[in-house]
Amino acid sequence: MTARTVLISGAGIAGPTLAFWLRAAGFEPTLIEKAPALRAGGYVIDFWGLGYDIAERMGLAGEINRIGYHIREMRIVDDAGRCVAGFSLPVLNALTGGRFVTLGRSDLSRLLFEKVKSETEVIFGDEIAGIEDRTDYVEVQFDRAGRRRFALAIGADGLHSNVRHLAFGPQDRFEKRLGYIAAAFEVRGYRPRDDDVYVTYSKPGRMLGRVTLHDDRTLFLFVLATDFDPEEAQFDLSAQKSLLRARFGKDGWECPRILDDLEGARELYFDRVSQIKMENWSRGRVALVGDAAFCVSLMAGQGSALAMTSAYVLAGELKKASGRHDMAFAAYEALLRNYIASKQAGAERFSAAFAPKTRWGLFLRNQVIKACAFPGLARLAFGRDIVDRIALPDYGWSVSERAH
Ligand SMILES: Cc1cc2nc3c(=O)[nH]c(=O)nc-3n(C[C@H](O)[C@H](O)[C@H](O)COP(=O)(O)OP(=O)(O)OC[C@H]3O[C@@H](n4cnc5c(N)ncnc54)[C@H](O)[C@@H]3O)c2cc1C
Repeated sequence: MTARTVLISGAGIAGPTLAFWLRAAGFEPTLIEKAPALRAGGYVIDFWGLGYDIAERMGLAGEINRIGYHIREMRIVDDAGRCVAGFSLPVLNALTGGRFVTLGRSDLSRLLFEKVKSETEVIFGDEIAGIEDRTDYVEVQFDRAGRRRFALAIGADGLHSNVRHLAFGPQDRFEKRLGYIAAAFEVRGYRPRDDDVYVTYSKPGRMLGRVTLHDDRTLFLFVLATDFDPEEAQFDLSAQKSLLRARFGKDGWECPRILDDLEGARELYFDRVSQIKMENWSRGRVALVGDAAFCVSLMAGQGSALAMTSAYVLAGELKKASGRHDMAFAAYEALLRNYIASKQAGAERFSAAFAPKTRWGLFLRNQVIKACAFPGLARLAFGRDIVDRIALPDYGWSVSERAH
């Protein structure tokens, strides 16, 4: 063990980003991922802001734009499929300066991982079973790979973080449930396609959207207000499908056809929509980044970018503090806490608009979306939640040759 070894749990978005910038800062990261290989499929994410800037600094902007999607319209439809509200790309461009792309979460994860895999020790199909924080190191018990010592251990293992559970306590202590479930699946050959249009249909307390992907695939996203705890159906695909059928089975638009396609789906993303709120993101030699530390939820539309920002700042502060982790962890929190709190507050506000629970709420939401056809009004409605209010610190990296 050297003073520069860092164990990172989770190879999603924050994990590989952290490994990249830690290597740039002269550390030796090891990534451990519970899944047997990088997770594929899932859902698509909108990507802009500081995350986009970091991807650019990692030399990934070109590739992200090549494999991503440039959505030209957001369209809300009624039972008959008629457009009742929506807005088009110039509005998003106006809000983000044209630095906006939609891409598969797993595609972003893969691109980030490819940046580090050849120079980083990676352990798939294992997880941390215990962490003992000694004064000078952390002693980690792996589920399968025995015991090892590291200078630091970082949890980048998402909403249901294992490291948070082991080092800080059970999830209920930090989780704020927003009262929704999100589910997503994809099929090949679905018609109509409406390329690069995000089409959504809403009823009080539920919404179903579709967006086209490459290779003739279509992704469907369900969001529904419910007290049902997805953990009760965690490994039960048919129970998850039954819940969606029960809620959307009598709805109009393309719901019957989409539910028929759902029956044949072998993979379904299905989880509750929650935020994580903690008083501290670090304890001793253990720290958290990304969703593990402060999940903002899908309602923020920016969780990946924030996960990358937290990884970048944590690595940068460790570099700046020459590895004095207590100073670095404190500076990391001081820089990001208010910013993240404002994103969480924005996401909570937005959740009411995403799947309004009443007819009146739906009507109002559609009026706001209609007004967003005008960039000036869109900036008024969403500007403060979309625009980043902090600048990315410059830690004096010399990664340009590595990144490109
Ligand atoms: C439906 C939906 C839509 C979303 N839309 C957007 C969007 O439009 N824009 C956006 O920016 N964000 C969006 N998000 C949020 C975004 O996906 C997350 O904020 C982001 O993935 C967080 O990255 P992360 O690396 O912290 O966690 P994750 O991406 O969840 O990665 C965690 C990794 O840790 C691994 N892991 C889990 N447990 C263990 C363990 N015990 N040991 C080791 N490894 C473990 C997992 O397998 C995974 O690889 C959305 C989320 C959802 C659910």
